[in-house]
Amino acid sequence: MSDTIFSKIINREIPAEIIYEDDLALAFKDISPQAPVHFLVIPKKPIPQISAAESEDQALLGHLLLTAKLVAEQVGLGNGYRIVINNGADGGQTVYHLHLHILGGRQLQWPPG
Ligand code: 5GP
Repeated sequence: MSDTIFSKIINREIPAEIIYEDDLALAFKDISPQAPVHFLVIPKKPIPQISAAESEDQALLGHLLLTAKLVAEQVGLGNGYRIVINNGADGGQTVYHLHLHILGGRQLQWPPG
């Protein structure tokens, strides 16, 4: 897999507002926030997109969700939030390193665009 901007953030080759890190995952603020709170949770393993995840990634995928929940609590999203994974062209994915969007801090609408 080719290097993405998110690999560069993991490797500290480009700056980001990192708000959580452990051995498996990283969370950082989105550079173009779509809500008052908008951060991304990514695996350090370079899985390009959710449709490329494999059964061996089961525990890691669970860890990403639990990380999203933990960081959402830490940043004060007690009133709720949304977790989004864009997958592929029709899903609107632009960075091909798996990431969860966590959005909150305002009333979110449904359905999304
Ligand atoms: P996607 O469209 O692939 O689901 O989401 C990619 C997200 O990454 C977008 O929300 C975009 O604003 C964010 N993003 C792209 N480049 C950077 C960057 O260099 N730094 C940060 N912090 N976020 C980025």
